[in-house]
Amino acid sequence: MTSLATPFNDGLRAGVVRFQSCAACGHAQTLARYACQRCGHEGLDWRAAAGTATARATTVVARAPSEDFRALAPYTLVIVQLDEGPRLMGHAAAGVQIGERVRAEFFEHLGRPLLRFVPDEATPP
Ligand SMILES: [Zn+2]
Repeated sequence: MTSLATPFNDGLRAGVVRFQSCAACGHAQTLARYACQRCGHEGLDWRAAAGTATARATTVVARAPSEDFRALAPYTLVIVQLDEGPRLMGHAAAGVQIGERVRAEFFEHLGRPLLRFVPDEATPP
């Protein structure tokens, strides 16, 4: 169960994508986990990502899963691989393609901070 007040969500409010970095093996992972997914170490540091990434999967959501998101539909969701390594899901600009370079933008919807990835021509794949 994830609380809205996490270092990740606080980062979004501050305009930063955060990820966890294992103090033992250096593995980078997203979401708030209790232990390293690779080695099980519980010493995890929050780091700020550059916000640049590569799109790995995209989908268009035509029917929102809840009333909260109905106003946004249709919208694009994307799974990206951050340049630091870990994968992350977020909203995306319409038309973002798999393999495309993207960068994070931030917006708030009904008081909830959300990510949106938009095309980034500045950084080559
Ligand atoms: Zn580790």
